[in-house]
Amino acid sequence: MENCVFCRIVSGELPASRVYEDENTLVIMDIQSVNPGHMLVLVKPHRANVYALEDELAGAAMRTAARMARAVKKAFGCDGVTLLQANEPAGAQTVFHFHIHVLPRWEGDGMALAWPAKNPPREALEEMAIRLRAVLADA
Ligand code: AMP
Ligand code: ZN
Repeated sequence: MENCVFCRIVSGELPASRVYEDENTLVIMDIQSVNPGHMLVLVKPHRANVYALEDELAGAAMRTAARMARAVKKAFGCDGVTLLQANEPAGAQTVFHFHIHVLPRWEGDGMALAWPAKNPPREALEEMAIRLRAVLADA
């Protein structure tokens, strides 16, 4: 994918501050770091988003993210870590090559995740679960 910025980083054509790599993943520092230690876990082959990810790559990405969460906690002494993964513009994705943010967090760091909980009744939750189970049974 010649126009994909993360493919160009994986291939070494564009610079990045590289933290870790293995067969399936590459970890770099986010260029617009939100907090010290903010990293991105990239899958090496081009996959646009989570829908395009086969099980092996999904597992590899999560394994690397967990490893980076432990590393950043040790290296920066953060109070917590948020893993964030965006898909499609409506899901807040801006770079269309699958990646997971590893975001070190501190109490009062001002990074608010807007989470307008609606607390639907049990019947509504059950209806949602039924709809999802039907799709999964079809797959
Ligand atoms: P999103 O798609 O919303 O999860 O965000 C993409 C992230 O990629 C942003 O946080 C950007 O700062 C980051 N980013 C974009 N280009 C680069 C680059 N060349 N090197 C490192 N990080 C980048
Ligand atoms: Zn790519």
